[in-house]
Amino acid sequence: METPKLTHVVLVSSPGLGHLIPVIELAKRFVLLHNFKVTVIAVTSQTSPAETQILNSLLTPSLCHLIDIPSPDINALVSPNDAVVTRLCVVMSEAKLAIRSILSEINPRPSAVIVDVFSTETIPIARELDILGYVYIASHASMLALVLYSPVLDELVEGQYVDQTEPIKIPGCKPVRPENVFDPMLDRNDRQYTEYLKIGNGVLQSDGVLVNTWEELQREELEALREGGSLSEALNMKIPVYAVGPLVREPELVTNSSTESLVTWLNQQPTQSVVYVSFGSGGTLSSEQMKELAWGLELSEQRFLWVVRPSIEGIADAAFFTTGSSGIDEVAKYLPEGFVSRTREVGLLVPEWAQQVTILGHRSIGGFLSHCGWGSTLESVTNGVPLIAWPLYAEQRMNAALLAEELGVAVGPRVLPTKKVVRREEIEEMVREVIEGVESVKGNRVRKRVKEVQQSAMKALSKGGSSLVALSQLANRISG
Ligand code: UDP
Repeated sequence: METPKLTHVVLVSSPGLGHLIPVIELAKRFVLLHNFKVTVIAVTSQTSPAETQILNSLLTPSLCHLIDIPSPDINALVSPNDAVVTRLCVVMSEAKLAIRSILSEINPRPSAVIVDVFSTETIPIARELDILGYVYIASHASMLALVLYSPVLDELVEGQYVDQTEPIKIPGCKPVRPENVFDPMLDRNDRQYTEYLKIGNGVLQSDGVLVNTWEELQREELEALREGGSLSEALNMKIPVYAVGPLVREPELVTNSSTESLVTWLNQQPTQSVVYVSFGSGGTLSSEQMKELAWGLELSEQRFLWVVRPSIEGIADAAFFTTGSSGIDEVAKYLPEGFVSRTREVGLLVPEWAQQVTILGHRSIGGFLSHCGWGSTLESVTNGVPLIAWPLYAEQRMNAALLAEELGVAVGPRVLPTKKVVRREEIEEMVREVIEGVESVKGNRVRKRVKEVQQSAMKALSKGGSSLVALSQLANRISG
């Protein structure tokens, strides 16, 4: 009997764990739910121990085939001051030829290639090779709407976006406050803005776009983006949008001694008593802010688990390409004198990187002070953990507004942490609110709300749920 033909899909990820992790999660779904053969082409930074660990974990269950392309040398093409988005776009543009040759030679011939948002230059290559080409935005629908509409805004808006006095309007979607725009829009004269505008046009050339959200969470934006929706009409958009999220990692196996001791510590804490503090794969704080944060945690008298990095002045995403390898003594230098010994009974410091999904899934975690990267946000929400929104870079200010103002699953500082140092008293107050709740509002409103959103996410991912149906529709189209 003839064996049925296996559908082969290639996924492309740009450097950075916030890009690689969601691509791997998508790859797993195609293998486990649709029995596809999947190849992941990962352009990697080769500098981060955490990245190596994640790539290895992909290989262990032999889920999919991995082709690791080391980041091309772009030193001659960028200046040392160029922003992360510029670097990512240049790296992926330089990797294009290598990706092309893999796509044209790989066996069996792929039916589709799905690229992340910084790899849209692969879409015309897919077309040339007669392969379907999709884009996966590992973010939410409002972000997708902003990316797609930015080339239009570029024509409509005069001057800098951040100087606008009115919120920025996007047809059919909630307006975006000028201060919350995606990082590359903060300065229209910066090279990253030009690179960014190309992404919106690139997505529209694809056969469809996947987004890491779900129908019930963002119905308004998704309707605007679909055929007949006002944004779709404004852009003359012809491509389908698949809301396939939330795609998040399962808790990992405890594979190393530092995670083992961390879990042992968590096991000893009361339920929902610990605030977890982490700024994603790239976030760093100024030394003044780091000290205020430490004081705020101490004054709150709550338990905490803090993934700490050395502080870096003026660059909020300094660790993006190089999650470092400092030890606890190195990072402790940036904390107030005596902090480590004074908080020894209630706090745990982990240098640089921790197994986040294992932490967020632990019953003792009661809140997450987070930079609001979309991956971290979804990991928090799907574990029913309310957030303290501390946006730093990329689209995180938009994410924070969505979490605190629209969904009500987060509290946040009065002024953006990128504008002003958040003082210890305010930090103390936010930590108490998330862990203890506020009497005046009858208990913990953010925790109640996050449990509702968690339920809605679980529903979308259950049999017959909107996100599984959307992924099946896409899988059928690809294997069709
Ligand atoms: N992460 C982790 N340990 C850390 C920091 C981050 O496992 O110490 C993971 C986190 O679980 C998430 C990803 O790295 O899956 C970060 O992605 P996100 O979108 O939150 O933010 P980014 O790092 O891209 O800013």
